[in-house]
Amino acid sequence: MGLIREPAATPEPALPAPGPRPASRPTPRPAPLPPTRPAAASPRSGAPSAAPSAPYVRPTDPIGCPPPEAVAAAASLADLERAIQGCLACPLGPGRLKFVFGEGDPRARLLFVGEGPGRDEDLQGRPFVGKAGELLDKMIGAIGLRREETYIANVVKCRPPDNRTPAPDEARACLGYLHRQIELIQPAVIVTLGATPLRELVGVAEGITKVRGQWKRVRVGGREIPVMPTFHPAYVLRQYTQDVRRAVWEDLKAAKEWVDKAADA
Ligand code: SF4
Repeated sequence: MGLIREPAATPEPALPAPGPRPASRPTPRPAPLPPTRPAAASPRSGAPSAAPSAPYVRPTDPIGCPPPEAVAAAASLADLERAIQGCLACPLGPGRLKFVFGEGDPRARLLFVGEGPGRDEDLQGRPFVGKAGELLDKMIGAIGLRREETYIANVVKCRPPDNRTPAPDEARACLGYLHRQIELIQPAVIVTLGATPLRELVGVAEGITKVRGQWKRVRVGGREIPVMPTFHPAYVLRQYTQDVRRAVWEDLKAAKEWVDKAADA
């Protein structure tokens, strides 16, 4: 019997459209968790490459290229944001309009991690705004939480040109910042949105369609954290079917139930 089961009296979720429920997919039990996989080095699928016309030269000053010890020394999210907001450590930095650090409850139990800022996020300096952000807010509301009760961050803090997938070296350059965010927030559960954060943060390179809804784990700062992979809201908007919406609802519901169990423990 799995630990995470659909409560008998669960009301119809707000996200999926009303209708008969499909045969229930057994929700994977979060523990024991599978072994952590090594970080994937495979090339990204489908994303066009926007190679710079000239090789990018990293700055050598501690503002343009914050040293790891400055990141590790940040004692709060505000400290960390101050330390890295001038970062130009990868080719995405010079092209950004605004640095998108992340936002939410600094002690959130539920952390959402997306890929990177898009156009609206780059303009506003906030993660997940615009249509995908509105849907994410609804997804969060469907499990009885408000956006500000969670924390929302991305793998990269600067917008990739034309919203392409961040290149592996760009993601690697930025990942230490996300790790420090996770260390400071200490979430009970991480929900990865789409394939990129699952690959770059967790090291799982399998397709998101195949692995969504299956518990993974990531070790950050000496803590092992359960990870629930689900679809990116932008994908849900493109594939706005009952099956996709229900899949996301089930994934988020499983994540919320694990958060509640961790709070009771
Ligand atoms: S994406 Fe990350 S590593 Fe690259 S410049 Fe922006 S903050 Fe720095």
